Amino acid sequence: MAVFIDGKAIAAEIRATISQRITSLKITPGLAAVLVGDNPASKIYVRNKRKACDEVGIYSEESVLPEDTSEADLLACIDRLNRDPKIHGILVQLPLPKQINTRRILDAVRPEKDVDGFHYMNVGKLVANEKGLYPCTPLGVIHLIQSTKTQIAGAHAVVIGRSDIVGKPAALLLLHQHATVTLCHSKTGGLDAICREADIVVAAIGRPRFVTEAMVKEGAVVIDVGINRLPDGKLVGDVDFEGVSKVASFITPVPGGVGPMTIAMLLSNTLQAAEWTR
Ligand code: NDP
Repeated sequence: MAVFIDGKAIAAEIRATISQRITSLKITPGLAAVLVGDNPASKIYVRNKRKACDEVGIYSEESVLPEDTSEADLLACIDRLNRDPKIHGILVQLPLPKQINTRRILDAVRPEKDVDGFHYMNVGKLVANEKGLYPCTPLGVIHLIQSTKTQIAGAHAVVIGRSDIVGKPAALLLLHQHATVTLCHSKTGGLDAICREADIVVAAIGRPRFVTEAMVKEGAVVIDVGINRLPDGKLVGDVDFEGVSKVASFITPVPGGVGPMTIAMLLSNTLQAAEWTR
């Protein structure tokens, strides 16, 4: 039976360390969230970020712009935050309304303040394995794997999902930790057999209980990034937790696995960005 990886507890430890590091810092790190429109899910997410910032001693503020905001007005808002010395991290809540070119906006954020790691400069640094700000969810995935003391170097890691925010950066981070990485997607042939070869499985698909017991090798470490709401309201991951628990050595639950780590890594990136300005 797999050992459960307690993302909530690990994230709490990381927040405690961040909080300690902030007390010895001469400046207060600051995080600005930019929200365009009235998406309730985004609002909840931003509220949770604010709570987490307050808890560790990060100053936080929000810029809320109407749904019909023009690209020029959004760029002006980002420009103001780029120049604001109390702000060390800027995140633009996605998705943006269709009149706005998302790539242009993400690249308008100063790379040193790009705590989501989405600016092309940081994407390039991740590819080149150079110091930069990297996407939060994949950073959380690596922390969770490391918490199990599993040796990543030399392990075969199979990442399912190749999005720019989760799958692709997770695969690169694992590669930089010297795993042998197979990155799978919807066109991958023989996915079940590939997955059965994995010592580490990272599921970032967005399909409820996609990874089943039959797809997982005995003793594999399984990290479930997925968050799926079932018609009955229940929240489940991309992994069939019950079945896969019987064969994996370690497994993350949903909720309480990767989710809390994403916010912890956002705080960590904000602190990192503030430390770099000293
Ligand atoms: P995307 O929809 O952007 O990407 C999904 C990926 O899964 C794509 O690469 C897609 O392949 C692949 N995929 C879809 N169907 C299959 C299939 N049948 N077989 C193999 N691969 C498949 O999703 P995200 O990466 O943004 O998110 C993935 C999941 O993680 C979602 O449930 C999301 O809610 C969750 N999430 C959780 C976070 C957290 O903090 N815990 C943060 C961010 C996301 P293709 O490229 O070929 O289309």
